[in-house]
Amino acid sequence: MKKKGILIVVSGFAGSGKGTIMKELIKRYDNYRLSVSATTRNPRPMEEDGKDYFFKTREEFEEMIDKGELLEYAEYVGNYYGTPRAFVEETLNSGKDVILEIEYMGAFKVKAKFDEAVLVFISPPSVEEVYNRLKKRGTETEEVIRKRLVRGKEEAEIINKYDYIIVNDDLEECIGDIHNTIQSAKNAIRQNGDFIDDMIKEFDQFLSK
Ligand code: 5GP
Repeated sequence: MKKKGILIVVSGFAGSGKGTIMKELIKRYDNYRLSVSATTRNPRPMEEDGKDYFFKTREEFEEMIDKGELLEYAEYVGNYYGTPRAFVEETLNSGKDVILEIEYMGAFKVKAKFDEAVLVFISPPSVEEVYNRLKKRGTETEEVIRKRLVRGKEEAEIINKYDYIIVNDDLEECIGDIHNTIQSAKNAIRQNGDFIDDMIKEFDQFLSK
């Protein structure tokens, strides 16, 4: 009996290190696939089109919305961000686990469509650490950093709607924690409805012999 993959939604404060953590997870474990989002924001230095994001104009993005090509989308600090639908559906069906690294409005839209989705929130250990990490990145102006902090406060208020919170104090520990969390979530009864139904059918077949 082939099991479908599970859908993991990861959100976190700006500067939580979630991007780095996700890339490491994909590198180390064979069953995870990271969804590449579409966005209208400008690429940061070192970011590649098709790898970090599909970079789109507003017109192109709105066309994707109209054609129903996005599983969810949201506006974040003045730009659109959205998850291409086809990749997620095809990859789950192939048995791989899909990770979406998206903000909370998108996360809740995904949860409304896929009730089994597992929602994980990553946080640095303190707000000072959030600020320092954003400052160190050096790619955002003070004004954008402030907007991201204001948004951070909003995010802190909705964390209780997630299934898990993981504090990124030490990168290695955090990667291990997330992997273990996903692995145990995979064994939850609500992820295994199809398997259980198949077992019941097999019992019936055996008993009717
Ligand atoms: P950044 O500009 O720092 O790469 O991302 C800004 C925010 O947008 C992050 O919180 C990130 O998780 C979120 N984000 C990235 N892709 C998507 C997406 O496809 N949908 C939604 N709703 N949010 C996304």
